[in-house]
Amino acid sequence: MSRPVPKPGILDIAPYTPGKSGAGVSGRVFKLSANETPLGPSPKAIEAYKAAADSLEDYPEGTSRVLREAIGRTFGLDPDRIICGAGSDEILNFLAHTYLGVGDEAIHTTHGFLVYPIATMANGAINVIAPEKNFTADVDAILKAVTPRTKLVWLANPNNPTGTYIPFDAVKRLRSELPPHVLLVLDAAYSDYVSKNDYESGIEMVATTDNTVMTRTFSKIFGLASLRIGWMYGPANIVDAINRIRGPFNVSTPAMLAAVAALEDTAHQDMSRAHTEKWRSWLTEEVGKLGLTVTASAANFILIHFPLDKGKTADDADAFLTKRGLILRALKNYRLPHALRMTVGTEEANRLVVAALTEFMGKT
Ligand SMILES: *Cc1c(COP(=O)(O)O)cnc(C)c1O
Repeated sequence: MSRPVPKPGILDIAPYTPGKSGAGVSGRVFKLSANETPLGPSPKAIEAYKAAADSLEDYPEGTSRVLREAIGRTFGLDPDRIICGAGSDEILNFLAHTYLGVGDEAIHTTHGFLVYPIATMANGAINVIAPEKNFTADVDAILKAVTPRTKLVWLANPNNPTGTYIPFDAVKRLRSELPPHVLLVLDAAYSDYVSKNDYESGIEMVATTDNTVMTRTFSKIFGLASLRIGWMYGPANIVDAINRIRGPFNVSTPAMLAAVAALEDTAHQDMSRAHTEKWRSWLTEEVGKLGLTVTASAANFILIHFPLDKGKTADDADAFLTKRGLILRALKNYRLPHALRMTVGTEEANRLVVAALTEFMGKT
């Protein structure tokens, strides 16, 4: 029998499994499994989105110019060095498609974001995993994983699902010790939540090298995950290459206009950042008091580690919480079978999770 056969690598990919979105129980459900903001987008973004409904028959402007200009104003960047995409996932895939071929190697860390191995393998390239230390990327381990076939390094900073980050000095050392032909992808999806003096998202590094890009998203603090919108800042040579494969209308007009309005509403962003910081600290402390280890997070979620004892495992906790309508993210395919990731939710959701975990741990 003859039939179409996918390219090498495609059928080796384990399909991406998103966090559960429902509990299969009646009553209220709190989805804390996909790092979505509990506060929603700026009302101005919703307004801009609705206004765009008046011209759905028109193709979008193909280069996302208004959004690139708004991003340029906000971050002080040259709009010509920005590419917008249908989520930063699309951009990560553009990068793999442009720079990886059969037999090439791309490095990511042990608990790196799942889109990286998928994008790598979709291009026939090989995933090389650099071990982490304390659930944190380790620059020396990444450098040790480099071979003559290495073409790209994926680094989420802060990382999902661990929430850990590496200081910018470490990123600088990584860049300076990587061979110059190796593309360094700095995925800064959670940078909007980081308030650390030694952190930088990578803007200056991108501006001063020709082998590093930074990706950002409107899916997290801006609350526009459903519209699929993200962006990349890169050197002219990389922007030029990617624009050759980018679909001519890859970002929809409603997404573009909502993103512009979201960027301009800095009060909404400040409110989201303050909410996240306050409740991330609270959750880390309260969950810690129950005898569970929480990895220190710089993002809008926390990583909770569970014991291996029967009845107290991450699987048991997941089932216990799900029954109460509290949906966290199980992490088996992130090589974290004994942990659950919880997105910082509303005050109500956060308190419900702590109350449920208190009961689960037998501390009531
Ligand atoms: C959420 C997330 C993104 C953003 O993805 P979008 O496609 O922009 O929604 C990118 N990288 C990481 C590590 C993420 O967790």
